Amino acid sequence: MQEKIISDDILEKMTLENVFKIFNNNVFPMLNDEEQEYCNELQEFCLELQPKIDKSKDVYVLFPELGKRGYMQRINKWKDFGPYGMKKEILLGTHLSMLDPQLELARLASGILCGNPTFHYYEHGGTGETIQKVQDELMSGQKIGCIGITEPERGSDAVNMTTVATKEGDSVIYNGEKVYTTNAPKADYFCTYGVYDTANPRDTMVQAMIKRDFGVRTERLKINSVPRVHIAHTFFENAKIPNDYILADDGLGYVRLFEGLVPERLSIVN
Ligand SMILES: Cc1cc2nc3c(=O)[nH]c(=O)nc-3n(C[C@H](O)[C@H](O)[C@H](O)COP(=O)(O)OP(=O)(O)OC[C@H]3O[C@@H](n4cnc5c(N)ncnc54)[C@H](O)[C@@H]3O)c2cc1C
Repeated sequence: MQEKIISDDILEKMTLENVFKIFNNNVFPMLNDEEQEYCNELQEFCLELQPKIDKSKDVYVLFPELGKRGYMQRINKWKDFGPYGMKKEILLGTHLSMLDPQLELARLASGILCGNPTFHYYEHGGTGETIQKVQDELMSGQKIGCIGITEPERGSDAVNMTTVATKEGDSVIYNGEKVYTTNAPKADYFCTYGVYDTANPRDTMVQAMIKRDFGVRTERLKINSVPRVHIAHTFFENAKIPNDYILADDGLGYVRLFEGLVPERLSIVN
């Protein structure tokens, strides 16, 4: 039997509704009318979704529920969902963390870490339709995304990577491995960095959107604190990526990596 240290009369008051009341009392004085209205919408959504959450199931079944309301991310404008921007994203993450912290981790990896690069692609003049389809699938919650930066034996050093990219006709081939890839065992899309020259990563880094069937293998890692999220050791074995899935090439991948890391880390703070 599990030992209980909080008495029932306290436990019964620890409802999501009461948590939101505490949030509103403390945070609303710092928000303008639009932001308060946005929080009210989020709270209504969370209170409706909470009874439908089955804690014995992985979080991914909930992605389409988020997608329907444009809640896979709110940094960037997607379709007509608003309001949007960094502050709205932080408010979204704060509310989802109160609802279901594991859902929030997986949502962030798919919607922000994998999703943001699709918005950056168009902001920097990308024109292909392929990435728009990927973006719509990720934002609607119909498909699952992840990001591959961290490598074994590299960890915090996100620059000196060993995943090697090689040009081959109209494609780029990836060989290498990543680790701690959140969502990877379930992911359809892997936004992943590689380098043409390991001795010169800054000038040769590539950012690519890789579909699982291009040649990706994942081995799930056992991370006890988040049993409903799948995190993996990810292998790229001659993964063949057609050019229309290359988001940034020939060193521009390095620029995009750091452009992405700032909003990503701000979102992760939640
Ligand atoms: C649950 C989870 C999910 C993750 N999801 C993803 C993901 O989806 N995609 C992805 O790419 N990565 C992911 N990561 C990887 C995460 O970003 C890395 O764990 C992180 O970059 C640190 O790497 P490391 O754990 O190998 O630690 P290390 O780099 O080995 O660091 C160990 C310690 O040394 C310190 N340290 C490291 N370098 C320096 C330095 N230069 N100066 C001073 N101190 C230093 C660190 O602060 C830390 O305390 C995830 C990690 C976890 C735990």
